[in-house]
Amino acid sequence: MHMRPEDILVPTPAGVCCKPGGFHIDPTRPVERALITHAHSDHARAGHGAVLATAETLDLMRLRYGENFAGRSQAIGYGESIGLDGVTVTFHPAGHVLGSAQIAVTANGLCIVASGDYKTVADPTCVPFALVPCDVFITEATFALPVFRHGSADGEIAKLLRSIALFPERAHLIGAYSLGKAQRVIALLRRAGYRAPIYLHGAMESITHYYVSRGIDLGELRPVRGASKADLTGAVALCPPSALKEVWTRRFPEPLTAFASGWMRVRARARQYGVELPLVISDHADWDGLTATVAATGAQEIWVTHGQEDALVHWCGSRGLKARPLDIVGYGDEDEPDAAATGETPA
Ligand SMILES: [Zn+2]
Ligand SMILES: [Zn+2]
Repeated sequence: MHMRPEDILVPTPAGVCCKPGGFHIDPTRPVERALITHAHSDHARAGHGAVLATAETLDLMRLRYGENFAGRSQAIGYGESIGLDGVTVTFHPAGHVLGSAQIAVTANGLCIVASGDYKTVADPTCVPFALVPCDVFITEATFALPVFRHGSADGEIAKLLRSIALFPERAHLIGAYSLGKAQRVIALLRRAGYRAPIYLHGAMESITHYYVSRGIDLGELRPVRGASKADLTGAVALCPPSALKEVWTRRFPEPLTAFASGWMRVRARARQYGVELPLVISDHADWDGLTATVAATGAQEIWVTHGQEDALVHWCGSRGLKARPLDIVGYGDEDEPDAAATGETPA
């Protein structure tokens, strides 16, 4: 029997649902059986009956939500397939954060790939994105405007190192999302030759130490908690972006604030956070990354979720690809949950 994509996956208010397989992907509300692409809180929520995800995603959910984050959980490795009531699901690396996966759902020879969040550029803290040929590709659209071009993350790290050399007495305080971005910034600094201890805000200690336990070398890490002003003179410290505006920063001598995010391409954003040193480092594909990936999958049909859906849907149409926005409410961007809603455009 000829199958339509909608016979395999349908968007519902709770997220994309596979009726024949009896599961949802990244559900935004509690369901019986959830397949989860990665551990960012808008994709990975607590309270599902059963969760299938990579071991890293399950561990990170456990760190965030506690041991009882789901009724049951099952780990699946990259490249591994599992049959669920006549549907086959396979997990592939998404290159977004540690443990992040694209989920390929196949039935009757028709393959749909739900990519969650992804990036196709190198990241020393996670397995690189794997291109999975498919009939239907479900893509995010966080930075889906032609003006978003992230450039080289190493170039941004070089900018940070120049600032550290220029202001050796000032503490460099870097706002970075606690899961993924913070560890990537640290790993990039180490790869660029920065050897001094790096200080961590309390909110990112456990996740960062989990990365280290998975074999990612981040050099010497110290908690900000308990450090003296003398210790922090000229030091590099990472904190959640929201902490950049808190009294917490007063413990640092002459703090120079930086923020690592794809949104730092938007000058108004950097100003809003009072950021002196914007660092354009993103864990999401930029416009070129999104369009190149969509084209390379060979998919003839594209479903677009969370972000700037319109521009990507339009681009697909101009290439003769069938495309539709999914309009699922509940996904944000981990850096700035309200950013997509403000309709800002880059400077
Ligand atoms: Zn994410
Ligand atoms: Zn997302």
